[in-house]
Amino acid sequence: MQVDYIIIGQGICGTLLSWELMREGNKVLVVDNSQNNSSSRTACGLINPVTGMRHVKSWRFDELMETAVNSYGALGQDLGLQLLKENLLLHFFEEEEEETVFEDRVRQGSEHLYFLEDAAVWQNYFLFQGKVGVIHPCYMLSLPVFMAAYRKQLQNNALLLEEDFDWKELKLENKKAQYKGISSDKVICCEGVGARINTYFDFLPFSFNKGEAILVSIPDLPRNHLYMNGIKIAPWKDGLYWIGSTFDWKYDNINPTKEFRANVERKLKNWLQLPFEIVDHIAAERPSSTDYHPFLGLHPQHPELAVFNGQGTKGCSQTPFFAKQMKEYLLFNKPLDMEVNIQRIFNKKR
Ligand SMILES: Cc1cc2nc3c(=O)[nH]c(=O)nc-3n(C[C@H](O)[C@H](O)[C@H](O)COP(=O)(O)OP(=O)(O)OC[C@H]3O[C@@H](n4cnc5c(N)ncnc54)[C@H](O)[C@@H]3O)c2cc1C
Repeated sequence: MQVDYIIIGQGICGTLLSWELMREGNKVLVVDNSQNNSSSRTACGLINPVTGMRHVKSWRFDELMETAVNSYGALGQDLGLQLLKENLLLHFFEEEEEETVFEDRVRQGSEHLYFLEDAAVWQNYFLFQGKVGVIHPCYMLSLPVFMAAYRKQLQNNALLLEEDFDWKELKLENKKAQYKGISSDKVICCEGVGARINTYFDFLPFSFNKGEAILVSIPDLPRNHLYMNGIKIAPWKDGLYWIGSTFDWKYDNINPTKEFRANVERKLKNWLQLPFEIVDHIAAERPSSTDYHPFLGLHPQHPELAVFNGQGTKGCSQTPFFAKQMKEYLLFNKPLDMEVNIQRIFNKKR
């Protein structure tokens, strides 16, 4: 069997990149070991225009979003789904200082922040004092539905090998990659934290971190908003809400913890004025990089190998833009931005 590209991993990176390459007429085979606790199957799916405690505009937000809206729109049409929804994020304040910071940013003219005029309406749903901030536009990507629908499409077209990629079976010779009788021009590594066992790209400075979420049923809460108050409540699949999250850099395992569940339960009891039921508790690792930028490029010694990984906390907004850039690099030799090119790692060491 002969293909143009083998892609390892069907998270958001492998999904978007395989779609981009196939749109140009390339034959792609995806190898994925279907781990339920992958980052893309656990994530909230929020795209937020601002970031951090000071609500600074997210890195390259406008250009990333332009591509994201187009790509998720076109992909959604292929799959018969609406993948992206625009929502308002209502920001309740745990501390007075948080409200002051938000107020300062509104005064400075931040285009993405304002205060709700009729905040009192929300007293029926939440216990709070003071103002309610709004962050807009926020988008929710239906990640679990999207990942499952794209996987089905790959299965139906016999373009998916459901197994662990077996590195011992990979041979790189005569500018081709050979894998279990399949010949490919390139193998592209999109394995998220599966990169841990990839010795070809072990020079990449990853900074993996663990995040947890609780899945909750809150039948009476309006589903057209997101709610933030130290924790984030976001509408998720099957009529549930996703509540999270944490950022842990030191952990022995990726199991959900009792502490996180107790913390969320306590916060909900103090804040939410509606009945709720905890349905599930999930956890995964984020494939972050030490400089917060993704990893794109060819292996320095083996041009039959490429990498597209390191999306960290911003996979939903960044991946469409950089999947397109990676495609244009592979097919048309267009340069990669140096901020994301893995060449930056070698330039830094010099
Ligand atoms: C709790 C949590 C909340 C998050 N919330 C958000 C959010 O709101 N917004 C946002 O933009 N981002 C969020 N993220 C981050 C986002 O999930 C990631 O940026 C993104 O999903 C990374 O996608 P990926 O394709 O690189 O990796 P993954 O999703 O991990 O996909 C990798 C795939 O490769 C497969 N694989 C790995 N190794 C192998 C192998 N050897 N052989 C075969 N298959 C293999 C895995 O099974 C998996 O399917 C969150 C992450 C977490 C953990």
